Amino acid sequence: MAKSVFFFGDGQAEGDPKRRDVLGGKGAGLAEMTSLGLPVPPGFTIGTDVCIAASRTGAIPADVRADVDAALARLEKTMGARLGDAAAPLLVSVRSGARASMPGMMDTILNLGLNDAVAEGLAGKTGNPRFAYDAYRRFIAMHAGVALGVDKEHFDRALDDARGRVATSKGIDRTRLNAEELKRRVPDADIPAEELRDLVQAFKAIVKKATGKDFPSDPREQLWQAVGAVFASWNNHRAVVYRKMHDIPDDWGTACNVQAMVFGNLGETSATGVAFTRDPSTGEKKLYGEWLPNAQGEDVVAGIRTPLPLRTGDRGTKADESLEARMPEAYRELDRIATTLEKHFRDMQDLEFTIQNGKLFMLQCRGAKRAARAAVRVAVAMVGEGLVTKEEAVLRVDAGSIEQLLHPTFDPNAKKTLLARGLSASPGAASGHIVFSADEAERRAGQGKPVILVRVETSPEDIHGMKAARGILTARGGMTSHAAVVARGMGKPCVAGVSAVAVNYEAQTMTVTVYDEAGLPKQHVTLKKGDIISIDGGDGSVYADAVPTVMNVPGQEFEQLMAWADAQRTMEVRANADTPLDARTARAFGAEGIGLCRTEHMFFEEERIQAVREMILADDAAGRAAALAKLLPFQREDFVGIFREMRGLPVTVRLLDPPLHEFLPTEAKQLELLSKSMGVPVQKLAQRTKDLHEFNPMLGHRGVRLAITFPEIYAMQVQAILEAAVQLAGEGISVHPEIMIPLAITRAELERTRAIVDDVARAVTGKDGKPVAFSFGTMIELPRAALLAGELAQVAEFFSFGTNDLTQATLGLSRDDAGKFLPAYVESGILAKDPFVSIDQRGVGALVEMAAGYGRKQRPGLKLGVCGEHGGDPASIGFFQRAGLDYVSCSPFRVPIARLAAAQAALTVRGSSAGHGTA
Ligand code: PEP
Ligand code: MG
Repeated sequence: MAKSVFFFGDGQAEGDPKRRDVLGGKGAGLAEMTSLGLPVPPGFTIGTDVCIAASRTGAIPADVRADVDAALARLEKTMGARLGDAAAPLLVSVRSGARASMPGMMDTILNLGLNDAVAEGLAGKTGNPRFAYDAYRRFIAMHAGVALGVDKEHFDRALDDARGRVATSKGIDRTRLNAEELKRRVPDADIPAEELRDLVQAFKAIVKKATGKDFPSDPREQLWQAVGAVFASWNNHRAVVYRKMHDIPDDWGTACNVQAMVFGNLGETSATGVAFTRDPSTGEKKLYGEWLPNAQGEDVVAGIRTPLPLRTGDRGTKADESLEARMPEAYRELDRIATTLEKHFRDMQDLEFTIQNGKLFMLQCRGAKRAARAAVRVAVAMVGEGLVTKEEAVLRVDAGSIEQLLHPTFDPNAKKTLLARGLSASPGAASGHIVFSADEAERRAGQGKPVILVRVETSPEDIHGMKAARGILTARGGMTSHAAVVARGMGKPCVAGVSAVAVNYEAQTMTVTVYDEAGLPKQHVTLKKGDIISIDGGDGSVYADAVPTVMNVPGQEFEQLMAWADAQRTMEVRANADTPLDARTARAFGAEGIGLCRTEHMFFEEERIQAVREMILADDAAGRAAALAKLLPFQREDFVGIFREMRGLPVTVRLLDPPLHEFLPTEAKQLELLSKSMGVPVQKLAQRTKDLHEFNPMLGHRGVRLAITFPEIYAMQVQAILEAAVQLAGEGISVHPEIMIPLAITRAELERTRAIVDDVARAVTGKDGKPVAFSFGTMIELPRAALLAGELAQVAEFFSFGTNDLTQATLGLSRDDAGKFLPAYVESGILAKDPFVSIDQRGVGALVEMAAGYGRKQRPGLKLGVCGEHGGDPASIGFFQRAGLDYVSCSPFRVPIARLAAAQAALTVRGSSAGHGTA
């Protein structure tokens, strides 16, 4: 294999930090920090290609093993210590690290290199046997869990037994305490060295019983097992689920970092923690994070102890709890390093550090995950600070995530019953039924129920439940706990560390201690599974019952970013809007027109449906004309309302599309009513209704096919559109309607419908006697339309790709039923994404490109847009930019997403063509 083991230490790194694809994010950060001269414990990174090779062949290639031996020898020399040497022991961590951050999804082993002799040596060398045996028991449990497949619970139980013995020796009556209370009364730190030494032997016996083999005492054997397990963890269930959710390709692999251990658990001058260079929820510029004194590695992120804030004054904690107050020198150095790294990477960083006997070490840096609000604020602030350009700022914010900013928050005027407060771990407001397990969350959400997942703390096993829930509440854990980090990434509301909540999984209840204003316990409220609560991840509040929500007003920074985005954009962004209210919302979100006004729902309103039914069931043209005459004034008012809201912006109106039978009466009462008003016997109407039934309505009498058999329907709609335009012109509002035909597949259909439109247009004139200006176009929704787009463009002046139907017809997948089996296709990787969410670029996309090419060849000025759901999906928008479309149209709420995504697509296309130019 090519070089795949990269040493870092002594101010030098072999790996190129830009090669995150090889080193993974963690490895690249360690290499970069080492090169910058920051205090990083030395080590080496085994590249991602080894993970891929190992998962293919089941073994680590021989030349890689030799390179690892060499790197280990160099590490031992640098440290003046050796793996397995009781007199000068070297302990290492073995940690995963993929190209994209996947917090907690893969495995890590700490304190590797311990056996009985080394533990004894470490105890002697540090003069701290408690520390040595604590490290040893942690190592056995971690290594056995990760590398040997032994259930973690066995070790937890043995640890609880030890805790119980300590309790008894202290005279505490343990029989009256549950496991949680016992843990509080006898924390880990109170378990003495002797007890830990016994625990090590008990742990080894557990391993022997579970695996039939002794726990490996040879540190080299430990190392290879650990490396193999870290690579294998790339394919564990939760990592696979996470990758699917975040579109991370399966063939990236993880790197494996082997690094000399430093210890944050050597006593009160040691600590461990995580820091963000800015506040990850709000984006405020200040060092932000959490720490735990006398704690090891994962304790902070694991959420087992609730960590303390870094800065004095944060979260209203007492001054003497902050790192700033307790270890001012280490704090200042951390602050200095944070500034250096942010300037160097020109992005907000997420840092992990350990303080060993007062000395600060950096263990990780990476681009920080942040809530959408923070992403926008940081991007805009960094332009002001001269760190990034406006174009970079636009590219920095994940377009999909800004939806969070546009979603509702709790109505400030609503009556609320506050139960408790926790940490505002991930912004957003949600109400739902309480569930206590991830599986239950998934099950209930699958039944369409909104749920709030309540856990003591979450772990990576809970990821599917977090995905299904509306929001997450944890009783323990801080701002960087698993729950907080993952929820922020998902854009889900999360309130963490609600210490007033006691969760009882067995009874499936949560008991909240409600405090009065003086901070004294007022009452205990017990809620059970299925009860409703509301959580506000923006301020950490937990409320009883459901709380109504109101719309959010995005801030000034958001407006600024969107203005920069609009300046970069080349595609127009329109909205799919069918009512004046939709139109108003769309404009408020920055839509530049309506790309799809569906007219069918307008026919369903109480006073209209009767006339629609009369029209469908009429025997002859005269009967149809009479019914349509009743509909005309309603329909005209619809368009007047929409055109008025859009004040001169383009509006594409699609003529009637669905199969007629959707409008038919279904109840006997409705038939009787019709019979009366039409003077036709009920039986006859019932028979006519039956005749109209279709086995496959989606492929049936719908779209333009309706106008071939009933031209009067489209004629009435066109008359309504043009008369509305005339009326508004009289008010000084110019309207240029775009009349769109659905589901066409032939030029002849378009010629026939164009003739209907022209006939009406001749009759409807403005005050000046001139016909109203409009354009005429078609949707491209079926493969034949795409294949023969050149012919359609002889008549159509614009195309709008109806990618919903085009996907359905091209893939032969029912829009309505595919949900039953499509998830299995996506989960198993047969399809990379749901093709109704993100466009199938190679299949449906090829038809879009083909139709665009044929159409423009026939009619160079042909206007091209898309109005299927894909018009609001960032990845699809990138594709439409490359395909040369003029606009995308999507639901009003997605308009800002589309504006940002279209700007990013334009910048990316420009960037890559600039790259080609200079290559
Ligand atoms: C489409 O098919 O993509 C489209 C926009 O039309 P509808 O969803 O109304 O079928
Ligand atoms: Mg359609």
